[in-house]
Amino acid sequence: LNKTIASNPCVRCGQERIVAKTWVDEDESMAGASKLTHTLMVCPDAECQKKLEKELDRQREARVARTKLKEDQDLARKQKLAPKIA
Ligand SMILES: [Zn+2]
Repeated sequence: LNKTIASNPCVRCGQERIVAKTWVDEDESMAGASKLTHTLMVCPDAECQKKLEKELDRQREARVARTKLKEDQDLARKQKLAPKIA
């Protein structure tokens, strides 16, 4: 029996994505080891997929930069609020 795969169209061109690869991760937790199957879905249009990945990279970098900025601000605030040890 085939598992029904939910429709997962490309956000750029709307074509139905295809499975690029699947892999299994062993996840060890306190409850014991469990296997997690990952599926990488890509746009059937290689050019489109490339552009999408670039876009995702940009978003990832922006997110990292924002997180870093927030951490710096939090740290600065904490240092300001911390009682001076004299
Ligand atoms: Zn696409």
